[in-house]
Amino acid sequence: MLLEPRFVKLSTRTGIEVRRTLPNAKKRMIGAWAFVDHFGPTTQTDGMVVAAHPHTGLQTATWLFEGRIEHRDSIGTAQFVEPGQLNLMTAGRGIAHSELSQADSASLHAVQLWIALPDSVRKMAPEFEQQTDLPRVSIGGISGTVFVGAMHGQPEARAQTKIYSPMVGAELRIPAGEFDVIELDPKFEHGFLVAIGSVQVAGLEVPMNSMEYFEPGTTSVTIKNTGDEEATVILLGGEPFEEPIVMWWNFIERTHDEIVAVREKWNNRDASIPGFVDHIGGWIPAPELPNLILRARNN
Ligand code: MN
Repeated sequence: MLLEPRFVKLSTRTGIEVRRTLPNAKKRMIGAWAFVDHFGPTTQTDGMVVAAHPHTGLQTATWLFEGRIEHRDSIGTAQFVEPGQLNLMTAGRGIAHSELSQADSASLHAVQLWIALPDSVRKMAPEFEQQTDLPRVSIGGISGTVFVGAMHGQPEARAQTKIYSPMVGAELRIPAGEFDVIELDPKFEHGFLVAIGSVQVAGLEVPMNSMEYFEPGTTSVTIKNTGDEEATVILLGGEPFEEPIVMWWNFIERTHDEIVAVREKWNNRDASIPGFVDHIGGWIPAPELPNLILRARNN
């Protein structure tokens, strides 16, 4: 099933536009992966200026293909993220952060992913980690970097990234003309996001910026680079996330009332999500809630 992106302008100072493949009208989540934004490549490398904003109930995973972004947050982190590294922020019961791309690179190109936290840990204290030594895998001529979990059949190449449900995330680089079989865990559902290049997944041409989805029970998929340049695919998978969630703005909760409460806390500058100092200044207030009851939905 093809998941096509929506084009969304982020509420940043520069109005950067992203291609969002999750949530999607056809599929809300893939495992605990709840949100997939793809932006760039752009030569406007100073284009990402996202002032302080909060998150709850999720982890943000930032993965760069090109460029450099500075992350700062309310637990004292100040960290650059560069290609090949994973910047993972676990919001738990509440964190605020800002993101500032650096003009010192030729191009900016990244995905930002959200991971829903299971109910048992979603109120945990916030954490941040930077993974710089991620395992590499080879599948025929394809070279991969595993940033979350492990590829099926390659348990020795497991990322140490701290996650709370069974899942996988990897970047696959496919040389021109190369095709290989990717083994999949049949307990997982999966998505293949084509980030760069011309790629066939299971015999179907998947347009750049789109994602091909596979249900649990799929044991392998052939991917092929049909172009004349190296292609890059992001593989995301996980056990179907069974808990209904309410995802609104930057929050993942379980009920409408929880969303109302956390929105009020942020907009009233409640001390439960403290401030911090960065080069951007200011903060992004939560928008008005829609005039309806937000319902927890299955995924
Ligand atoms: Mn954020």
